[in-house]
Amino acid sequence: MADQNSVIAFYDERMLAHEPDIEVPFLPGRMDTRIRSLLSGLGVPWKYPEHPARLTAIRHLLDIEPVHGVNFETGMPATREQLGRVHTSSYLDSIYQLRGESAWLDDDTTAVSPGSVDAAEVAAGTAIAAVEAVVEGRAESSFALVRPPGHHAEPVRARGFCLFNNVAVAAAHAQAALGCQRVMIVDWDAHHGNGTQDIFAADPDVLFFDIHRAAPFYPGTGSLAQVGVGVGDGTVVNVPLPADANDAAYLKAFREILVPAAQWFRPDLILVSTGFDPHTHDLALNVSYDGFAAMTGVLQSLARQQCGGKLVFVLEGGYNLISLSHGVRSVLQVLAGAEPAEPGLRGVAEVEAAQAFHRGAFITEL
Ligand SMILES: [Zn+2]
Repeated sequence: MADQNSVIAFYDERMLAHEPDIEVPFLPGRMDTRIRSLLSGLGVPWKYPEHPARLTAIRHLLDIEPVHGVNFETGMPATREQLGRVHTSSYLDSIYQLRGESAWLDDDTTAVSPGSVDAAEVAAGTAIAAVEAVVEGRAESSFALVRPPGHHAEPVRARGFCLFNNVAVAAAHAQAALGCQRVMIVDWDAHHGNGTQDIFAADPDVLFFDIHRAAPFYPGTGSLAQVGVGVGDGTVVNVPLPADANDAAYLKAFREILVPAAQWFRPDLILVSTGFDPHTHDLALNVSYDGFAAMTGVLQSLARQQCGGKLVFVLEGGYNLISLSHGVRSVLQVLAGAEPAEPGLRGVAEVEAAQAFHRGAFITEL
């Protein structure tokens, strides 16, 4: 078994080659015409929101403020066989044909640049590498810092800036090649992981727990009633939240829904689709760095109780570079052994000290 609090972060520069730029010509067609007219109707310049600086900002922060105990490794490209466990052959053909091209993939503005297919293969393969590191006992936990993200990608469709469903590819690899029978996937990105749910809805050996901002927020799926289908009935758990839900709501859901679900399911491995867009800075929800740290603490305890600590984080969204990078760092600190603070108490000790300091000035002793 790996040493407690040993952590490997996976970072690979090949993922920076995914860089859609709407200033260059895209493959022509109906979708190009439609999206271009939609974007010009915005009246403000539009840039692809899921850009390389998302990863370099994280790496930069971890270089200037390293987390003791976290080692870095590079990833690897996923093979067609590995991707084919969760995507159809015709979908993979259609994506591979776009190598070297700029093109729209979905009218929600998901796009590729000439380097995107290679980058997406490395993103999915790096999620696999992070799982292998933990299952093989080289680290107790790992964090795959990947892009393009994955959780909106469906078996037959790119969506929501996602090409391949990285966390699903990693879960399927753990089952098919690494001897993990039951895998739990926790998705705390602000957006519902429609692709991951779609891929595993009928699989009784994958428990999918997703906490997200409720429809009509993108992508509009993830209602309470979506609980899995067929023999997978009961292995999808959705917790839709109102706008601005905060740390207290997330932790209540983790402690009172996720933990009992995991204790019932008894996973061999826990994967986390980790988006930092629930942070206040991304304007959809109201989670803090202490909130991310506390959720990580719950998952770390759960993994130690259920599956020898085996816990793998895979990056999803998060578009404010400050909260994205600091959010990642707050997760890594807990994985590496820091005790998470209880959210909501920042400044309370200082107020108590100030209260003691000022007491003699204006409070009459009884
Ligand atoms: Zn998101």
